Amino acid sequence: MSLTTKIETPSVTYEQPIGLYIDGQWVKGKEGKTFETINPTNEKPIVAVHEAGPDDVDIAVSAARKALNGVWADTLPSARGRMLTKLADLFDEHIDTLAAIESLDNGKALSMAKADVAASSACLRYYGGWADKIHGKVIDTDPETLNYTRHEPIGVCGQIIPWNFPLAMWSWKIGPALATGNTVVLKTAEQTPLSGLYAATLCEKAGIPAGVVNILSGFGKTAGAAIASHMDVDKVAFTGSTAVGRTILQAAAKSNLKKVTLELGGKSPNIVFNDANIEDAISWVNFGIFFNHGQCCCAGSRIYVQEGIYDEFIEKFKARTAKNVVGDPFAKDTFQGPQVSQLQYDRIMAYIKAGKDAGAKVETGGERHGDKGYFIQPTIFSGVSDDMKIMQEEIFGPVCSISKFKTEDEAIKAGNETTYGLAAAVHTTDLNTAIRVSNKLKAGTVWVNNYNLISYQVPFGGFKESGIGRELGKYALANYTQVKSVRMRL
Ligand code: NAD
Repeated sequence: MSLTTKIETPSVTYEQPIGLYIDGQWVKGKEGKTFETINPTNEKPIVAVHEAGPDDVDIAVSAARKALNGVWADTLPSARGRMLTKLADLFDEHIDTLAAIESLDNGKALSMAKADVAASSACLRYYGGWADKIHGKVIDTDPETLNYTRHEPIGVCGQIIPWNFPLAMWSWKIGPALATGNTVVLKTAEQTPLSGLYAATLCEKAGIPAGVVNILSGFGKTAGAAIASHMDVDKVAFTGSTAVGRTILQAAAKSNLKKVTLELGGKSPNIVFNDANIEDAISWVNFGIFFNHGQCCCAGSRIYVQEGIYDEFIEKFKARTAKNVVGDPFAKDTFQGPQVSQLQYDRIMAYIKAGKDAGAKVETGGERHGDKGYFIQPTIFSGVSDDMKIMQEEIFGPVCSISKFKTEDEAIKAGNETTYGLAAAVHTTDLNTAIRVSNKLKAGTVWVNNYNLISYQVPFGGFKESGIGRELGKYALANYTQVKSVRMRL
């Protein structure tokens, strides 16, 4: 089996790497295994890629350690910054190919995939700008002592990413890690290995030295677990389910107490007050739940609408949702493609069934879309009570539940009634309501009169069981550095 293969997508034909990218080389896994990645639009295999096992993780970690102490330690911060900027430029140059790979492997609409690539390059460029601006402080204590701090890299970082935003997650992880002088062993999600491998070819072109970035395709229970429990990995950064986040924290505790940052799930409330601009609110509520087919950790899946506008809201929201074009990710007008996998499709359909069985009313959707591919109709439930499974658990699909509330206090209480705390939103034209409610919602991000606005400059992460630490912005730099205090007697 050669280590690249030609792939034809409806928009581009390109050369896809399929090996593991370790120490600047394309190699096969030590166990000689491969696995197929499936096209969610037609349920057919796209290609088989080489699979990393624990031995490959070991080799990649050694390469990352050698680069950390060698070539990367000798690279000036400004040069690190230039490489990240070059990598961002290469993302822009290859936007058509990268986006086509995302649409093929993940199923997201091509227009959305292009937006993901643009956001990824912006993130890499932003962290490129930070690389030579990382510095400590001088702290005065007394005339006989000079005290200063240094913000040093943590070391070899294991990074485990999910399938819902493969390239954006790749960039959110690699950007701040490299800017701050760390080296990386990154495992992509088994459902979407292709774009991460292609991006590795761009690392080579950007001049990032061998061993600094290592990209592995593989499964969570083998390669992922080997990263989390590895004695020579200094930090692990993970995005995915809360259940796996717990496993990673346990593995870190049982191994070398590596630092852990987690970006996990959510069950985010989207609260619409009587005085909201209803057309505007509906447009954001629709985007909040159905963007990326509901496969967003911050999806606004619990919608609370004040009683004065409840009936009107439901009718207009249904009409708005009917305009979401579901279909082929490569078709021009598509908004919603297929779910990523058979497993996710089955999980979501089981939640829809649970909602129906519990007596919730299906306002729209509730069925498969078409007869091929993992497509699900955008689904709105009403008549939902807080104890129903569809109101409690993360569905991670195009499914939302609407409830009615009377008072502001009631909305805040309901909004916070979850073990998660990733995001929330408030729709109102009253500034006082907006500020009061935002302050009381227990969530890492609160959107006011919008939803899903995420920018590389603004921190993102969870309260409660939605995570530990923050990604993006200056805040992410703290998660990739450790502070050393130097105290000198004069
Ligand atoms: P997951 O958490 O199992 O997988 C995410 C990543 O973790 C993948 O790279 C996977 O290989 C890896 N992984 C899995 N088990 C591991 C382990 N024991 N040790 C180390 N790494 C491991 O998510 P999933 O099964 O793909 O999806 C299940 C649910 O997770 C979804 O329905 C959704 O609720 C949630 N999810 C959340 C996000 C998010 O962005 N927060 C992303 C994907 C999935």
